[in-house]
Amino acid sequence: MGARCRSFRFLQAPDDPDDYLPVGRSHKVWGLCSNRVVRKGERCQECQDALITCPSVPVRLALAREVGQDLTVLEALTTDNDMAVAAAASKALRNGDSGGLFDVGVRP
Ligand SMILES: [Zn+2]
Repeated sequence: MGARCRSFRFLQAPDDPDDYLPVGRSHKVWGLCSNRVVRKGERCQECQDALITCPSVPVRLALAREVGQDLTVLEALTTDNDMAVAAAASKALRNGDSGGLFDVGVRP
């Protein structure tokens, strides 16, 4: 038995922008993923890509602020079109809020 991704996946832009959040509320906008992942609690590549490119700024902002966020996700979000998202991702990278992956010889 392998681990499964437990993330909501962004499917399509809603008719009503209020339906973006909270994540998972609208089943037209969000689908529950069950792709196989290597480690339990991990988000699969498809969900990650869908969230990084999600047209909703609040959703991308929440992704940038997620505790234990993946380094590759944070790095992708530092080039986000929205300045608040890019700033939140840069801050998370600086603070090393990314699940300890950033601890190895990087902090002063
Ligand atoms: Zn997934």
